Amino acid sequence: MKVNAIVLAGGRGKRMGSNIPKQYMELCGKPVLYYSLKAFEDSFIDDVIIVCGAGDEDYVRKEIVIKYGITKVTKIVAGGKERYHSVYNGLIASGGCDYVYIHDGARPLIDQYILERCQHYVEKFRAAVAAAKAKDTIKIENGDGFIKSTPDRSLVWLMQTPQVFEYRLVKDAYEKLIDQESRLLSAGVSITDDTMVVKMFEEIDARLVENPKSNLKITTPEDLEIAAFLMEKYARENI
Ligand code: C5P
Repeated sequence: MKVNAIVLAGGRGKRMGSNIPKQYMELCGKPVLYYSLKAFEDSFIDDVIIVCGAGDEDYVRKEIVIKYGITKVTKIVAGGKERYHSVYNGLIASGGCDYVYIHDGARPLIDQYILERCQHYVEKFRAAVAAAKAKDTIKIENGDGFIKSTPDRSLVWLMQTPQVFEYRLVKDAYEKLIDQESRLLSAGVSITDDTMVVKMFEEIDARLVENPKSNLKITTPEDLEIAAFLMEKYARENI
């Protein structure tokens, strides 16, 4: 059985207010992207494909992969305009494997526990995703700044990554997405994660895998401070 991981680092991170994309910024002395590569390096995953901004490939190879002795990275490829374009490029580069982990390089706090739980469920259900139960009440807006409805909080989950699939299943779904992209865009559909692509085109429901620890996505400068605090705490408490 072969298991690959696609680590996405092709975003420009406009909400960070910095010229340096967030995945290359420093967190506890190392680039944000290093931490998820290290988690995959220490795991049962076979090959890792990094998807970065076009033109960043050499920087990523020299300043992250080689510098920190990451050995499982077999390819570094350029991403695309939207996250789903980057995922598609990663899936093409990933080639034949049985399962594939799709992970945001901007989430440095993943650990072996969540990788193993996702593997357990993907083998049973073909699709599995790290997620957290909503703590706050979630509201759906009417599009005009007012509340339209309130979903039952006990059924609301916040999606994280890794999102893990049988390779063929997710590759087929993404082929169809790219094929039908212009139709979907004109219908106003926005593609924000991988489980929705697999549901839309292959009718497979991903199994939610509750992540007991924080798995925050670095989005704003404040997130870097919170991630540093949590990383030091988890290391201190050995969890
Ligand atoms: O922009 P957002 O925070 O949702 O991005 C999630 C992940 O997807 C990040 O790791 C980012 O680098 C990656 N991404 C990408 N290609 C894009 C947009 C985002 O690889 N075009």
